Amino acid sequence: MALKKLVAGNWKMNGLSSDLAEIRAIAEASEAYRQVDVALCVPAILIERAGRAAPGFAIGGQDVHEAETGAHTGCVSAQMLLDAGAVLTIVGHSERREAQHETDADVRRKAEAALVADLDVILCIGESLDIREAGAAVATVQAQLDASLPHGEGASAGVPASFAIAYEPIWAIGTGKVASPSDIGEMHAALRKRLVAAYGDAGNEVRILYGGSVNPSNAAEIFAVDDVDGALVGGASLTAEKFVPIVAAAASAP
Ligand code: PEP
Repeated sequence: MALKKLVAGNWKMNGLSSDLAEIRAIAEASEAYRQVDVALCVPAILIERAGRAAPGFAIGGQDVHEAETGAHTGCVSAQMLLDAGAVLTIVGHSERREAQHETDADVRRKAEAALVADLDVILCIGESLDIREAGAAVATVQAQLDASLPHGEGASAGVPASFAIAYEPIWAIGTGKVASPSDIGEMHAALRKRLVAAYGDAGNEVRILYGGSVNPSNAAEIFAVDDVDGALVGGASLTAEKFVPIVAAAASAP
């Protein structure tokens, strides 16, 4: 049976008080699509205000520190996200892996810290263009998944219901280039195998999202691909006008 789809927006470093009305508009319009889980991951400083603007709507962070407290200037812990009203967080986005030099092991520890604290997690993985062109995309992303997957207390508490993977080819993020349905299907099937190898039958319940230039025009085709259980959406999540049709496409997916 198909898993309930999750459509999550990643606002990246966008969002001021003046954008709270947009968050409210997205939350209100999403109520018509109860068969889809919808969330917005906003800058940490906006989480509390977003929660007040859209009570009951799932608001998340975009990163979390692996430690509970301590001397980590500028960082945000899982408890802080929860305290601000977040119910989920992204970890391992390629922009952080690249700009903040986050490794698979860092991402794994962040995912574990979030799951232990009872935050849902969207863990991002994906290949560069060079790797895709060298024909090594599937093997590379599978290895990245294996090395980033949470283990231990957090994993047993959080897999699979509160844990999702986002396959995001780096060359498709913010570029308008989208992976083909057959490439997405091949990758998601390969990732499903690795999830089952890691978690047994429970691996079939972990949602695998696609991310990379998803928009209202291509969403239905992407959601029709086997093992695509939702989307992580960047640019098109910033307005209700673009994001809500993506949620609607998820609601009508086969
Ligand atoms: C993202 O940032 O995770 C993303 C997929 O961005 P975009 O949809 O803009 O490509």
